[in-house]
Amino acid sequence: MINVTKSFLPDIDNYVKYLQQVWDTGHLTNHGPLVNELEEKLKTYLGVKHFFFVNNGTIAIQIAIKALDLSGEIITTPFSYVATTSSIAWENLKPVFVDIDESSLTIDASKIEASITPSTTAILATHVYGIPCNVTTIEEIAKRKQLKVIYDAAHAFGVKYGGTNVLNFGDVSTLSFHATKLFHTVEGGGIATNDDEIAHQISYMRNFGHKGQEDFWGIGINGKSSEFHAAMGLCIYPEIENIIEKRKNLSQLYDKYFAEANIELFRPSIDEKVKYNFAYYPVLFESERQLLAVRDALNASYIYPRRYFYPSLNRLPYVDHTSMPIAESVSSRVVCLPLYHDLSRENIKRIVTIIADILKHWK
Ligand SMILES: *Cc1c(COP(=O)(O)O)cnc(C)c1O
Repeated sequence: MINVTKSFLPDIDNYVKYLQQVWDTGHLTNHGPLVNELEEKLKTYLGVKHFFFVNNGTIAIQIAIKALDLSGEIITTPFSYVATTSSIAWENLKPVFVDIDESSLTIDASKIEASITPSTTAILATHVYGIPCNVTTIEEIAKRKQLKVIYDAAHAFGVKYGGTNVLNFGDVSTLSFHATKLFHTVEGGGIATNDDEIAHQISYMRNFGHKGQEDFWGIGINGKSSEFHAAMGLCIYPEIENIIEKRKNLSQLYDKYFAEANIELFRPSIDEKVKYNFAYYPVLFESERQLLAVRDALNASYIYPRRYFYPSLNRLPYVDHTSMPIAESVSSRVVCLPLYHDLSRENIKRIVTIIADILKHWK
């Protein structure tokens, strides 16, 4: 069976070594030594001023929204994982969708301004598949209109734009370290910011607002992670460049086999200023009917791509149903093909052959 992804698991002896430290110290959670060590390593690797390791990528977005004290309407993308929109609605704010750009599949920055109202307080956009948003235009609009910017960077671990890590754009960026993500801690997430004041708020907010044992700075939530999760991250961290390199090679193999089969599938375009992380391998078919035919053929060979991201988030039952033609069209036609560190060359060839076979006989 081949799934869209397979979690990287480190050498178990290495993990046990970290567990031995937990048994030795008796420190299981609450900002223990392993959490602190992982936080420091990631902060350096990601090149940001402040970095917080939290318990998942959804709480990361929710804490970011609280730390920026947002209210009213948040401009956001309809093409992302559900957590981007649900986090806004969960905080009783109104998601206002702006359609995506046809080539990058990120929010169309040229359409943002028309959706700003006196109630708008922020833009929350996703670097979807690890492809950076149009950060320059978004920054310019946000400055002029005095809006905050949060980037959902759940897919963008290690991505650089113009030489700097993409997490350096916007007021706050959030990451997910869920087991299905490029870098993972089983469950986990991260919050990055270069703003000292925002970082100060986040440091309290993720720990119930505690200021010492008996005093409270303000409202907070439980955003803490454990030593067990940090241990997984510490085991995977030294492998990350290697993992990205493998995924790059596999992505290039897909490109090569598709080219050899004379199949041209639409793929989102990535600016040359971007150093990509090869987090996903999305392809678009000409219609949903074609996508479903390809999926059925792959499933028949026990190959399970995923419809990341379907449905378009403006179709969720708890949001206003504005029409988003591009996002809806893309959502209905896109799948992510299997991509993970030890996927074999033969299996990539097999996947491409199955797809090519459907497309060549397409009526
Ligand atoms: C995975 C994901 C999240 C949520 O992260 P969790 O760690 O699963 O809570 C948020 N946004 C996007 C775009 C994601 O892909």
